[in-house]
Amino acid sequence: MSLPEAVGVVLKSFDISRERLAKVSDDIEKELISGLEHGSPKSSIAMLPSYVPALPDGSEVGKYVAIDLSGKNLRILLLELNGKGKEPNTTINNFIVPNAIMKGTGEQLFTFIVNCLQKFLKEFNLEDANLPIGFVFSYPCELLSIRSARLLWWTKGFDIQDCLQKDVVELLQEALELSMSTTGQIKAVMNDTVGQLASAAFKYGSECTIGVVIGYGCNSSYLEDTAKIKKFDPKVGNYSYDKMVVVTEWEEFGANGELADLLTPFDVEIDEASVHKGKQMIDKFTGALYLGELVRRILCQFIIDDLLFNGTSVEKLEFPESFPTKYISEILGEEDGSYTICRRICDELEVPNHGSNDYAVIRAVCHSVSARSAAIAAAAISALLRHLNQSNVKIGVGGALIQFHPTYHELLENALNMQAPLNVQWELVPADEGSAKGAAMIAAVAEKLKL
Ligand code: BGC
Repeated sequence: MSLPEAVGVVLKSFDISRERLAKVSDDIEKELISGLEHGSPKSSIAMLPSYVPALPDGSEVGKYVAIDLSGKNLRILLLELNGKGKEPNTTINNFIVPNAIMKGTGEQLFTFIVNCLQKFLKEFNLEDANLPIGFVFSYPCELLSIRSARLLWWTKGFDIQDCLQKDVVELLQEALELSMSTTGQIKAVMNDTVGQLASAAFKYGSECTIGVVIGYGCNSSYLEDTAKIKKFDPKVGNYSYDKMVVVTEWEEFGANGELADLLTPFDVEIDEASVHKGKQMIDKFTGALYLGELVRRILCQFIIDDLLFNGTSVEKLEFPESFPTKYISEILGEEDGSYTICRRICDELEVPNHGSNDYAVIRAVCHSVSARSAAIAAAAISALLRHLNQSNVKIGVGGALIQFHPTYHELLENALNMQAPLNVQWELVPADEGSAKGAAMIAAVAEKLKL
């Protein structure tokens, strides 16, 4: 079915040329290198040391817990590692962080986390087991050791002012101590990309040296030579290992206007309405926190321009976040031409009249924003591949878009086929629930290496 020409024109503004993507990728690479030398704010990409010297190799054994705060989702996981060649056992529970807590106080947030942990451990009679904990805290943090992370700034819609510059491990520890009925030892704190990398390395072996999360936000970590982290003094950091995982925090790229020409009017609106205006531009182009909202804004404009639903306004669609990113996954998940799900979603949105022409437009919009997200993510990954310069690399990928969006993996692979350096053999390797699982594994590594 052919789309109205005016729809095509708008969607064209989401296509980024090969040359422009190559420039984005080159600019990101320069910032990665500058970040290793100077860090933030001189570089827009902070390149944060993680103090993680090694990835799991499969020999780890024992029971570990992960607490994974990666956005609106808080995941608590119990992992039983059974040694080389044996599948680990995993149990996981998800809790949704209420909006009020995302913008409340530190005390509320950490009490909420401990209450969820307590509920989870109670189910398995493990409240007093004092299990080692890996804590995933996926916001930019300056680490002072593997167990100490000072929050630099919030992303992904969180805004809890009294946590800024505080050590989130101390805050969690204090909340744990206050709870009296739950015990646990926090062995390691890390970004979700470090967990993702660890769990992919566990599953796919030592060629896996890059971890990428494309979830609510988008970020990466990779195994670097300690000597190349120029701004890091191993003596001051009391660090004696040759390697260290570095967290790029590349989502901050673009804060100096480097991506301004790529912003459509809809992106500008999203940015204006965001908690951190002008920041985390890569998140805004790629992340699940924003994609659904982007589609919603485009659809609303199409209604105004009489290109959708015969120009009949849809009250529900006027509300921000009424088109969650999961709708994109559902719509793109159905066979081309069969619009059962799209019809259901239109009914949910109480669209008075809708038909195949509308579904084709909605589907095309979902595809365009997803393809652009994958193209930008691929530009960033390609920059890292050139910097790492490792001939065979497995890239551990995870996050909501990788896990639940039906075409994202393929879009990303296609975009990488166009952009990745030709001298690198790369492979995308997904690891579900990677960040939480990997965090529990890093807790095991920390114990093994007596960190
Ligand atoms: C955060 C990163 C995180 C990424 C993926 C970004 O918004 O700043 O620290 O790794 O989202 O969750």
